[in-house]
Amino acid sequence: MKADQRHATSRLISGYIIDNLRDPRFEVTPAFVMVEMHKLHGLDIGYHKTWRAIQHASALIRGTPKENYELLSSYLYMMKSKNPGTYTNIKIDDNNRFLYMFYAYGSSIAGWNHCRPVIAIDATFLKHQSIAHGIAKVYPESHHGICIYHLEQNLKRRKVKSEVIKLFQSAARVYMHKEFDLYMSDISKVDKKTFDYLMEEPPERWARSCSPRRIYDMLTTNIVESMNSVLLEARELPILRMMDFIQVKLQRWFYERRNEAEGTFYDVSCWVEEELKKNIDLAFTLNVFPVDSWCSRVEEQGVTFLMDLNKRTCDCFQFQFDELPCIHAIAAIDKRNIKKSNFCSDWYLKKSWLKTYERQIHPVGHKDSWIVPESVKSKIIKPPDFKVLPDYYLDFQKFRTFQKNMS
Ligand SMILES: [Zn+2]
Repeated sequence: MKADQRHATSRLISGYIIDNLRDPRFEVTPAFVMVEMHKLHGLDIGYHKTWRAIQHASALIRGTPKENYELLSSYLYMMKSKNPGTYTNIKIDDNNRFLYMFYAYGSSIAGWNHCRPVIAIDATFLKHQSIAHGIAKVYPESHHGICIYHLEQNLKRRKVKSEVIKLFQSAARVYMHKEFDLYMSDISKVDKKTFDYLMEEPPERWARSCSPRRIYDMLTTNIVESMNSVLLEARELPILRMMDFIQVKLQRWFYERRNEAEGTFYDVSCWVEEELKKNIDLAFTLNVFPVDSWCSRVEEQGVTFLMDLNKRTCDCFQFQFDELPCIHAIAAIDKRNIKKSNFCSDWYLKKSWLKTYERQIHPVGHKDSWIVPESVKSKIIKPPDFKVLPDYYLDFQKFRTFQKNMS
């Protein structure tokens, strides 16, 4: 390619990126720009070049990396002023260099009060024990479970046979302790080594039936994995641009979920409605024998379960573990012609869903419009020591592989 041609291409990319960076509807990531440039102009641009072009264009809008860090204190100040209740905390080293940062929007903090009290943390972050310690300090009653997906991956790496892995999955998922014991004794019979390996980790940490706390349906950290994949490409953007990206993303999620919650005709969330519906057909095949106004004996394939609507418990344990009616409860509720939503935990109600996404996530707006006290403006933070960053941060393929190996 000739020099002037190369120059024209660069200008084309920069122009395109700048137009779209300003448009909050688009997430300008290298992958996005590469696809768009191919689609619009038939250009095949390498990842590295696209990445640099985005850095360059971002710098024009939100400043260079150095300027980004210099503005960080002011940005956080504006974030808090536009979003009351927002919490931010930055750690810097002795030379004022950025080390790490934590922040939570006021709207997220308020919404969390209406969510099931489960915190999922990526395994990569848990290597920093301080997070686990921090949670134990803030929530002394909390129970630390581990992700069964990751545990299963460990079994696969140890070349455990698939039939044993299936037994493990059942052992982890069943609600009744009795059933857990049966699956575990099966495992010990076919593969004693794997049984011992599993028991090294206390079952309270990975088996639902042994957990001392409600873990609902959250046996894995999938939710973190999906969050990570959303943020993966934004991580490569300059810090303020990345924070803009997160703000736009959260704002959109809050808006979409609020809309969905407002639009539903049910008293429970759509997910719960689906879960209940899935079980209705099966519930109809069960025999229900009322014992008193709350209790029923429910027969399923010759096995009797005692179910109590007042205490919201059932012999199958699912009612009390998930805080949602199990099939036995559904059968009993239908027999009495009452609303199933009366027996779902508050976490699952439409009103909680609405409360979770009640508030908005506001952008900080253009720098020129900021009103920041001098004491905040003068807190200049320096960029982190980039020399310590491995160069795979610049190489997308290697970065992806690195990510995969870490998880
Ligand atoms: Zn039941």
